[in-house]
Amino acid sequence: MTEQFKSGFVAIVGRPNVGKSTLLNQIIGQKIAIMSDKAQTTRNKVQGVYTTDEAQVVFIDTPGIHKPKHKLGDFMVKIALNTFREVDLIYFVIDAATGLGRGDEFIIEKLKNIDTPVFLLVNKIDQVSPEELFSLIEKYRNLYPFTEIIPISALQGNNVPTLLDQTTVHLEEGPMYYPKDQITDHPERFIISELIREQVLLLTREEVPHSVAVVIEGIEKNPKTEKLTIMATIIVERSTQKGIIIGKQGQMLKQIGMRARKEIELLLGSKVFLEVWVKVQKNWRDKEHYLHDYGFDQDEY
Ligand code: GDP
Ligand code: MG
Repeated sequence: MTEQFKSGFVAIVGRPNVGKSTLLNQIIGQKIAIMSDKAQTTRNKVQGVYTTDEAQVVFIDTPGIHKPKHKLGDFMVKIALNTFREVDLIYFVIDAATGLGRGDEFIIEKLKNIDTPVFLLVNKIDQVSPEELFSLIEKYRNLYPFTEIIPISALQGNNVPTLLDQTTVHLEEGPMYYPKDQITDHPERFIISELIREQVLLLTREEVPHSVAVVIEGIEKNPKTEKLTIMATIIVERSTQKGIIIGKQGQMLKQIGMRARKEIELLLGSKVFLEVWVKVQKNWRDKEHYLHDYGFDQDEY
């Protein structure tokens, strides 16, 4: 008797910094979701596809849910909540080391209004004792009827195979949505912009807020040399931030460009010429029409 092929969509949700992107990267095995020790770096919906002979799981890395402070915040929460309803399964990731926080309670309240099954993934178990882990699980178990509770370490990979097995168990019969070798359905330009943004955040540390956006203006291939030229613009809200990103005699921007170029070359497997500009766009997060321009178009979701 042959088993039927199973497939489905899984949303990964949780507070900023609990390890959602790390988990996705651990599962997919390639750097697609941006990783950072700064909160809230993933703003777009990133899909990774995990395919075996038995099943295909399409992952959605939703923006971290938080109390909205501006329009973009509202927009992100709305995306996340819509996502909850659309998917077949939700991974609710929590940080075992920080315990139950108000952000988690906010998410649990939202989960109570939807029917989608939820796995509670207690992440960073490498940072707590078994006793602490046990009492934390008890606490959460009383708050919501989770379909499964699975302790993991997204960073080290502990229990991730169990998680994937359990995921397959809960998925229903379905088609292979994506070819087996396809890792993400985002156009490469999104990944490229995230790789540049990651370098901005890493190199400028606390000096530039996560509101920085990167727009890929163009990608051109030289027909003779096959070399790619990528033109990108980093968008900030204040001229002081522009100054920080450019740095003394352009040194910072040079570093950002150089490091991002190396990552992009690894991703694309070809030589790249990267041109990066910096532009100030005041309060862009509060202007709906700019959200559209920068790829946060609601119709996509
Ligand atoms: P996200 O905001 O939920 O996407 O979180 P990230 O995936 O960006 O992870 C935030 C931080 O937590 C990063 O510094 C990760 O290296 C770290 N992290 C993620 N998973 C684990 C884990 O299992 N153990 C430990 N010790 N750190 C982790
Ligand atoms: Mg993330």
